[in-house]
Amino acid sequence: MARYTGPVCRQCRREGMKLYLKGEKCITKCTVERRPSPPGMHQQRRRKVSDFALQLREKQKARRMYGVLERQMKNTFEKALETKGATGDQLLVLLETRLDNVVYRSGFAKSRAQARQVVGHRHIEVNGHVASIPSRRVRAGDLVTVREPSRALQYFKDALAWAKTQPRPGWLEVDPDSYTTRMVTTPTRDQIETQVDTQLIVEHYSR
Ligand code: SF4
Repeated sequence: MARYTGPVCRQCRREGMKLYLKGEKCITKCTVERRPSPPGMHQQRRRKVSDFALQLREKQKARRMYGVLERQMKNTFEKALETKGATGDQLLVLLETRLDNVVYRSGFAKSRAQARQVVGHRHIEVNGHVASIPSRRVRAGDLVTVREPSRALQYFKDALAWAKTQPRPGWLEVDPDSYTTRMVTTPTRDQIETQVDTQLIVEHYSR
């Protein structure tokens, strides 16, 4: 289960925007708000930005937001190519319906990185069976729950309070009191709240 282990806030500085990778800290104590310049010694210089650079940055931004490595992103893109519909929209839908993202969107974790850990540590069930693979696809009708023994953990008690304050996407039916979420429908592009321009990502991979 490979993952990025470098400095987290550096990724937001690189993309020049808040990617909300650290949960609550992103609201109370954000680095990119204090130091909005890109990382590195010579990044203050103004450079002409090429089309390639724009496409690359957009792809990197999406990758960092969803916490996936390059190989996984490329595979997801290839899957999106084979799926009916606009490739960019399908790419976003595939990223959004990953199990770790569903756990995050349900409010059971404060960041996608935390959601990934919660899944990896076998605290989550899908349709009554333990699911420990963060990239597992959740489908319409699936029931995602926090496992009964895990609910007694302080982490999930805090998560419950957090989940109650979080906005819920229309494609998920979240019941924080019973630690359950049902994916009522596969999300459409307009139901996915994100600042990613998928057209640029498609152009990047189609070069
Ligand atoms: Fe990004 Fe959050 Fe760090 Fe701010 S605190 S730079 S949003 S990871």
